[in-house]
Parts: sequence; structure tokens; C-alpha cells
Amino acid sequence: MNRPVDMAASLDLGLAWQNRFASLGEAFYTLLSPTALPAPHWVGTSPAVADLLGLDRAWLASPAALDAFTGNLPIAGAQPLASVYSGHQFGHWAGQLGDGRAILLGEVDSPAGPQEVQLKGAGLTPYSRMGDGRAVLRSSIREFLCSEAMHALGIPTSRALCVTGSPAPVRREEIETAAVVTRVAPSFIRFGHFEHFSHSGQHAQLRTLADFVIDHFYPACREATGNPYAALLEAVSARTAEMVAQWQAVGFCHGVMNTDNMSILGLTIDYGPFQFLDAFNPGHVCNHSDTGGRYAYNRQPNIAYWNLFALGQALLPLMDDQQQALDALEPYKAHMPAALQRRMNAKLGLDRVEDGDAELTESLMKLMAADAVDFTIFWRRLSHVAAEISVRAEPVEALLPDRPELVEGQAQGEQGQVRDLFLQREAFDAWATRWRERLQGQPGFDASATQARMLRTNPQVVLRNHLGEVAIQRAKQGDFSELARLQNALERPFEAIAGHDDLAAFPPDWASQIEISCSS
Ligand code: AMP
Ligand code: MG
Repeated sequence: MNRPVDMAASLDLGLAWQNRFASLGEAFYTLLSPTALPAPHWVGTSPAVADLLGLDRAWLASPAALDAFTGNLPIAGAQPLASVYSGHQFGHWAGQLGDGRAILLGEVDSPAGPQEVQLKGAGLTPYSRMGDGRAVLRSSIREFLCSEAMHALGIPTSRALCVTGSPAPVRREEIETAAVVTRVAPSFIRFGHFEHFSHSGQHAQLRTLADFVIDHFYPACREATGNPYAALLEAVSARTAEMVAQWQAVGFCHGVMNTDNMSILGLTIDYGPFQFLDAFNPGHVCNHSDTGGRYAYNRQPNIAYWNLFALGQALLPLMDDQQQALDALEPYKAHMPAALQRRMNAKLGLDRVEDGDAELTESLMKLMAADAVDFTIFWRRLSHVAAEISVRAEPVEALLPDRPELVEGQAQGEQGQVRDLFLQREAFDAWATRWRERLQGQPGFDASATQARMLRTNPQVVLRNHLGEVAIQRAKQGDFSELARLQNALERPFEAIAGHDDLAAFPPDWASQIEISCSS
């Protein structure tokens, strides 16, 4: 089944390739080459990811790089392959899936450790099933921007080096054009890889895979007392809890939390119909194809547990009994809410979690939901209010009305009073009084330091759907300047940048009409 790779005329990128995944053996993948695309052009590049890989930034702009990252030129030292995995999709066992359009070039040695480099949308593989092996420009831009945005927000994620486009037509609901995203992560191994070897009874390969993941990414599990695979499950649960807590705190909905889209490293991967919340709605469903609302914003922590349970089930052949898996999963139930509360406390300017903080947060979220308050703008405005809280008790109303024009460079959305975001102003004032008292009660409370910390925690710019949409529409017309401007802002999401006001403003009315589905 393995196609030979023609390495004649291959391009030397000057990188040290390791190809550790390829060393796992043929049961794990099919060797193959990307399928070329006609007339490629640049869409976007990330110099920061070039630095991560040790690629020369100037070279990244070259025609050779354009060809290489479109899949049109073999790369010396790389060993391209598509891996096989399975998974549960929307709660149902889907059987064998695999890299249907992503091709792993191999792993590049970097100062941050080996990094897998994948071309997504680089052509058919044996796992393409009914698909065409391609990705469209629209979804590739969204994945590129969101990868770099999440990284800048400090959320564990795969990265994106570049996107190239081609006029080659791709059929979705309508005819679109092809693109390739070069994405990068220490590993793209998914829960679904484990499910694949477990459910197909290939238990020797299951053990090989688990050992590979432990040796390279979770070495402490080898030293842990008890079963190392149970230790792995617990460690993956902990990382997943931290990741999902960060999603919740920033208002990120993944949209397709199928087990084949869950990273074994606790990274956010496979960006598809994701969305950052505009107005706060806990039940928000961002994926138009998710008619049952399985992946609604407020269900993400439970769905992550469901997925971890599926991973636990897949690992059972390597454990002594079922109880070992259940015990390994148990800590998630406390870890997840604790991690989330820690994040919410940071958003509120509180350093330590105390009794009553969960209630303080929940009552705020209820008010925000009832009044459909803009999730991102709320936290920025609240951050500014913190600066005006004195160490003395003072009625909160005293610091709310008639605030002067805010600091120079502060974005439109941030100007104005936080209480104006609410219809139930008195209820918000009452909440704000409790919040202020809780802040003032912190030993050594310092208002401006608190404000500064909150502004570093609560982003000004997130990849709202409509911002991506504007960049995509321009890109479809061959103008990539809006994409570059947005990327620039997303790379520094906590900073007020001159000329970026509109990116931090309220969404326009048409934003709520955007329908993002699984089609990508
Ligand atoms: P996703 O939900 O996008 O992560 O994709 C689920 C599965 O379908 C994965 O195995 C993908 O590789 C595969 N897939 C999605 N889109 C395509 C496509 N256009 N061509 C081939 N395979 C695809
Ligand atoms: Mg996927």
C-alpha cells in the first residue's frame, strides 16, 4: 500500500529531520507524497513559527518555500506520511478515520524540542474516505489565524507556519479554491490514535504507541508508582482540564470535540467551526452542523471528560483492571472546575481562590447571560474599573459615573462604562460592590497593579467570526492586507495598538448571521 516517495530534485531546507513518528512502523501510517497544486501563491506566513523551526524568515518568502509548503516540491530529509486513527464523532463510534488530507512531513529538531510539520489540504491519502484531500482558502485562513491567536493568548495549541493558496477549484456547498496550511506541533497524536489500535485489537501497537507518547512527552509516568498507562491517562486528563479551562475563560468554543480532534498533549488542534463568543450565551453552539448542541460552549468541560473516558477505555488492554482507569480519570472532576475558577479569578483581578469566589463568578455569569453582555469587552472594561478602586471602602457608584476619556490608544469597545453593558444596572452595581470588597480585602491590594494584571489576562482582540470573515472576503479577492493586519493584532491580543480600534469594537449586526459548519 505504501507509495514510494520520489526524492529526486528534493529541496534542502537546512533543517534536521528526525521522523520519530515514522519509526513507529507501518501499522501506524502510509508513506506517500503530497499532490501538487497549480499556480500557488502566498496567503500568510508566521515569522514567529519560522523562528521556532529555525527557518530563515527571508527564505520563507522565497518561491522555493512557496512550492515546498504547497506540497509541490519534495523536502530533503522529510519522510511524508498520513497516519491512521479512528474516533468517536458526535458521540458515536465512527470507526477508521485517519489523516484524510493532512500529510506529516516529519519532525524538525528545534530549540523547543522536535516539532512535527504537517501540510493540511495536500491531497488524497488512503484515509480520505469520501473527501477530496483538500482544504479551502476560507477554513485555512481561519485555522492559520486561530492557531497564532491562541498561542498569543497563552492557550496550548498547534501552530501555523503559513498558508498558501491555489486557483484549483474545490467543491463544498459552492465552488471555492484550494489552500494548504503548514501546521506545527510537538505531536499531532490524538485520542483517536489510541482508540484505533485498541478497538481493532492491535494491542501490541497500542502499547508501542503509549510507550512512544510516555517516553517522548510524559516521561514522569514511567517513574510513577503503579501502572504507567494509568499515570498517562491521569496526566493527559490534567493537561486537558487546563486547556479547556482556558477555552472557557476566554470564551472559545471548539465546535467539533470529537475524540479524533483531541490532542494527547492537551493542545487545541483541528480548528474548524470554532468561535469566540460575542454576546455571552452559555448554551452557544458555534457549529451549524451540530444540531443537537453536543459541543455547546458550556458543555465543553463535560465533553472533554467524555472524551477522556473514551481514551481510558482504549487504554484498558494495558491496565490491570477497569478500576485503574476510573481512578485515573477521577481527579479531572475536581481539577477542571478548580482550573476554571483559578482562571476566572485571574480575570477578576483576584490572586487566590477563596470560599465564595465560585458564587461571585456564577452570579456574574448569570447576569452577563441574561443581558447578553459582550464577553470580551466586558472584561476589558472591568479591568479599567479596577484601577479606580481605592483601598478604602467607597460606594462602587462613585467610581462608575462620568469617567473621563480613557487612556490614549484604548480601543472603542473599552471606552464607556462597564455597567452600560447591562440592562439590569442595579443588579450589576450590587455585584460590583461585592467584587470591589473582595478586591479590597486582598492583603496589599494595589489598584493599578491589579488593573495591569487584568489587562494582561483579559484580551482586547480575539478572532471574532466577523473579523475572520472580513479578512477571508478580502483574501478571496487577492488582497491579503486585512489578514496581515488582523494577524498582527491577534499576535498581541492584550495590547492597544494604534489603528486597531475597530478590531476591538462590538461586532456588527451581521456577525450573528454568519453560519460556520463542518464544511472546510
Ligand atoms: P475533522 O472533523 O475536520 O477533523 O475531520 C474528520 C475526518 O475527516 C478526518 O479523518 C479528516 O482527515 C477527514 N476529512 C475531513 N475533510 C476531508 C477532506 N476534504 N478530504 C479528505 N478527508 C477529510
Ligand atoms: Mg480532525
